[in-house]
Amino acid sequence: MKRRKFLKNTTLGLSATAAGAISGGFLASCLNSNDKKQTKMDVSALIPIPIQIVIDDVGWWSGKDGSAYQQPYRTGIDRNHTVADYRAIVKLGKELGMRPQAAMILCEWDKNNILKNVPHSTWMGKKWDNSKWVGPWLEEAADVINNNKKHFEITMHGLGHEWWTNGIFTRAEWADDDGIMRPKHDIERHIQAFAEILQQNNLGELPKSFVPTNFSHSFGVTKGNDVSMAEILREHGFSYINTPYNYNFHNIDRVQYGVFGVDSGVLTVDRGSDLLDWNVIGVIPEGKINGVTCGMHWANLLHEDPERNSEIVDGWVKVLAPYKNKPETMLAENSLVYQKQLVHSKLTKTTRKENKIEFDFSATDNAGTIISNDEFTIKIKSQKELSFSSGDIQINSVSSNKESDSVLYSLNLKRKGKGNASITYKSA
Ligand SMILES: [Zn+2]
Repeated sequence: MKRRKFLKNTTLGLSATAAGAISGGFLASCLNSNDKKQTKMDVSALIPIPIQIVIDDVGWWSGKDGSAYQQPYRTGIDRNHTVADYRAIVKLGKELGMRPQAAMILCEWDKNNILKNVPHSTWMGKKWDNSKWVGPWLEEAADVINNNKKHFEITMHGLGHEWWTNGIFTRAEWADDDGIMRPKHDIERHIQAFAEILQQNNLGELPKSFVPTNFSHSFGVTKGNDVSMAEILREHGFSYINTPYNYNFHNIDRVQYGVFGVDSGVLTVDRGSDLLDWNVIGVIPEGKINGVTCGMHWANLLHEDPERNSEIVDGWVKVLAPYKNKPETMLAENSLVYQKQLVHSKLTKTTRKENKIEFDFSATDNAGTIISNDEFTIKIKSQKELSFSSGDIQINSVSSNKESDSVLYSLNLKRKGKGNASITYKSA
């Protein structure tokens, strides 16, 4: 290959950039003293920030905004939802090699009307009757979800999205407008009902991720409560919350690490702002992802004609695909990879020494997350082809992407123990 020859025959300029601990920028180094040809290499390394997709309000069968008469906002569109709308999520995941989070509202999946006994969960209260939405489409949609688990993650969003008292709703289901958590026994009852409706539909156990409805949420304990929302979620096996740090997010001063905080061990990630408003349908998206989450509402992924959903999905693929091969970003394969990578990208210190990249995990391990931060990905940019080795960290995989004048390597690494580690590289 022409370009490879070019790489081999060119002595590259020495980078004068100081090596050392990095934060946000690429680590540049000039190497390699052991290289017999005495060529100089520019090598830089970074733990990329991961991007995850989170889609809100999946699960409604009616799209109708009923807020004017004390019903939910739902997805705010002029058609009902169909099984094709679930396929759209799977298609998005498949095309990007990702597992989008579907933050689900489950009241319209309630086959047995259990919600009549769950106070504050629906507009009908004790007269709750969901028979209108019980039909074969439930099994068909459940099949789409269950047959595509690598590309569809159920995330808990809620039962009815709002909080009804005597047929009148306030916002929102899990916390009020001031971010004050609803009474603990109600939170527990709503989580339990969410699990029961999943079971009714053979959709598995409670998920491990949560998006608060209306994004009404507080970091830590709120007035009148002796336990935080995060703590209750943790007791039910959740490890991660995704919500924007906007006006509905309270106690932001308690967040420790900027784009995320650790609340009772539960990672609480800032979703940033979405590209589209919540009820926009049939629009091909454009723009840049401004943080670590590509957040959207279900309508944003769909077309007015469900048979044309793929046109909108393709638009999202176009928006997101470039983040896969940028040195500073990656697309997370699933939410667990996402959580681990996010913590590493912010807290693991990367230092270059000679032909080594050293990792200091002390801040990462002190963050106190429930999930073990055993795996992460590093990207290494080099003007020569490299090979990698390590005695104290496992190199799970190495992939590379050739660019015009360099190679961008992506290494998935797995820690062997708690201590710091390093990888060594040399000319291939
Ligand atoms: Zn919502």
